[in-house]
Amino acid sequence: MLNEVKELGTRLMRDLINTSPIVPEIDYDQAPFRDDEEGFTLRAEHEGERAIVLNRTGSRIDAEMAISQAQDWIVELLWHRGRPPTWPECGSHPRTHPLSVADVAGTLVWVCPKTSDVIAPVGSLPAQH
Ligand SMILES: [Zn+2]
Repeated sequence: MLNEVKELGTRLMRDLINTSPIVPEIDYDQAPFRDDEEGFTLRAEHEGERAIVLNRTGSRIDAEMAISQAQDWIVELLWHRGRPPTWPECGSHPRTHPLSVADVAGTLVWVCPKTSDVIAPVGSLPAQH
C-alpha cells in the first residue's frame, strides 16, 4: 500500500512548504524500517533526519500518529533554531500553540487544541507569506 504512504507524505509536504520555516526533504526509499514496516524519512540539511513509521491496523494506516510524529520533529527543529515552536501555527492563537492533528469522521484534519475548531484538512493549509 505504498500509494497510501506517498499520499500522506505528499499532504504533509504541501503543508510544510506552505507554512513551515523548515522544509525537509522526504524519502520513501531509504527508510530504515523492518520488512513489515512502512513509512518515510524526513531529512533536513544540517539538522539530521527522522524516520516516520506508519503503523497499520488491518487495512488502515495510523496517519494521525505519523503526522503527529513528523510535527513533533519539526517543532523540535524550530525550537533548536530559536523560532516559535508552533508548527503549524494556530491562526486564532498565534505563538501560543501549534495545531493538533485529528481524525474527524475519517478525514485527517488540523484542529485548534483549545477550541477544537477544525482549521483545514491535512495538506490544505493556506500558504503563509
Ligand atoms: Zn488555537
